[in-house]
Amino acid sequence: MELKDFDKDIYELLNKELARQCDHLEMIASENFTYPEVMEVMGSVLTNKYAEGYPGKRYYGGCEFVDEIEQIAIDRCKELFGCAFANVQPNSGSQANQGVYGAFLNPGDKILGMDLSHGGHLTHGSKVSSSGKNYESFFYGVELDGRINYERVADIANIVKPKMIVCGASAYPREIDFKKFREIADSVGAYLFADVAHIAGLVVAGEHAHPFPHCHVVSSTTHKTLRGPRGGIIMTNEEEFAKKINSSIFPGIQGGPLMHVIAGKAVGFKHNLSPEWKVYAKQVKANIKRLGEVLVSRGYNLVSGGTDNHLVLVSFLDRDFSGKDADMALGRAGITVNKNTVPGEKRSPFITSGIRVGSAALTARGMKEEQFELIATRIADVLDDIGNESKQAKIKDELTALARNFIIYNKAVF
Ligand SMILES: *Cc1c(COP(=O)(O)O)cnc(C)c1O
Repeated sequence: MELKDFDKDIYELLNKELARQCDHLEMIASENFTYPEVMEVMGSVLTNKYAEGYPGKRYYGGCEFVDEIEQIAIDRCKELFGCAFANVQPNSGSQANQGVYGAFLNPGDKILGMDLSHGGHLTHGSKVSSSGKNYESFFYGVELDGRINYERVADIANIVKPKMIVCGASAYPREIDFKKFREIADSVGAYLFADVAHIAGLVVAGEHAHPFPHCHVVSSTTHKTLRGPRGGIIMTNEEEFAKKINSSIFPGIQGGPLMHVIAGKAVGFKHNLSPEWKVYAKQVKANIKRLGEVLVSRGYNLVSGGTDNHLVLVSFLDRDFSGKDADMALGRAGITVNKNTVPGEKRSPFITSGIRVGSAALTARGMKEEQFELIATRIADVLDDIGNESKQAKIKDELTALARNFIIYNKAVF
């Protein structure tokens, strides 16, 4: 039976979501539009298969084909990141990170990560996350100029003496210097863990510094700039670490792997390994750079003054409206972003003084500098006149028409 006949409720909501994704300008920096063929395998018979364990070492029979699929995903992941070992089973970026900690640390060990309010991630030691409950967490941040000061990180590391340093961020517009982080880690005898969840798509295209050979272990999501299915991965070059990572994921924190998603990761990696991937990654950077330049020309401040990657942080510290106000006004104009804290923040984390804007998703729809210039102009038009809802409605009509010229999907289910 087809979904539309069996469950109208869900079917209709899927179609509403399809229309929402198609008609809005998606600029949340962590989102992307994956490939139809990735969604095809995610909706496949693979969801039925139990395959606890790893290729060739399963706890269930009938794994001959899923073994091949997972091995292809592993081999492509290794090729993509130029590393010796990969685990493609983490169900999400957060579970990948939990798996990394479990492999390298004992409960109570010290970790040093980037402060959430400075652009880090919950899983880098925040008290509300298991990473901050199971381990004793300490933080570094950015300076008022919006950049990591590596000397300051070294000083903190020297006082804290962490067992692991975590680098990588969710809202940091500048390149991360893995080499400097490794020097700091070595100076205090810590493991260096890079979480490249946001920047992985740029890293594998050679458009951002590479975490290897500097990091002992690297994790990523596969659904952000990598544009694959929702999920996580862990990579390392040391066999001893790889063994610990595997048992930390299964049986440590997960059961049967999501074989349909692992197949989706394999298909996504095939895209990431193709020559067109470099063209996409370059365009992601060119697009956000242009958007940032237009905003600066219109008098808006970017945290750190610009961007090296796929996102900008726009600061409203000098304005009488908040990140939340901007987020809502842009939403009314058909542009989806998220509010974000900025260095020197004076408002609460629920209100904030900034927004985070990313280019990966609209670049996947085929938009180039020309469209980003127009979008940036409309963002500034909205922010300049933030209380004017009728203007926002007019801009929404214009931007919906723009979005519809860059069709991404013609159906909700693949
Ligand atoms: C998004 C993100 C994660 C978590 O990924 P989920 O799949 O949402 O669990 C982890 N680390 C960083 C740096 C991220 O940006």
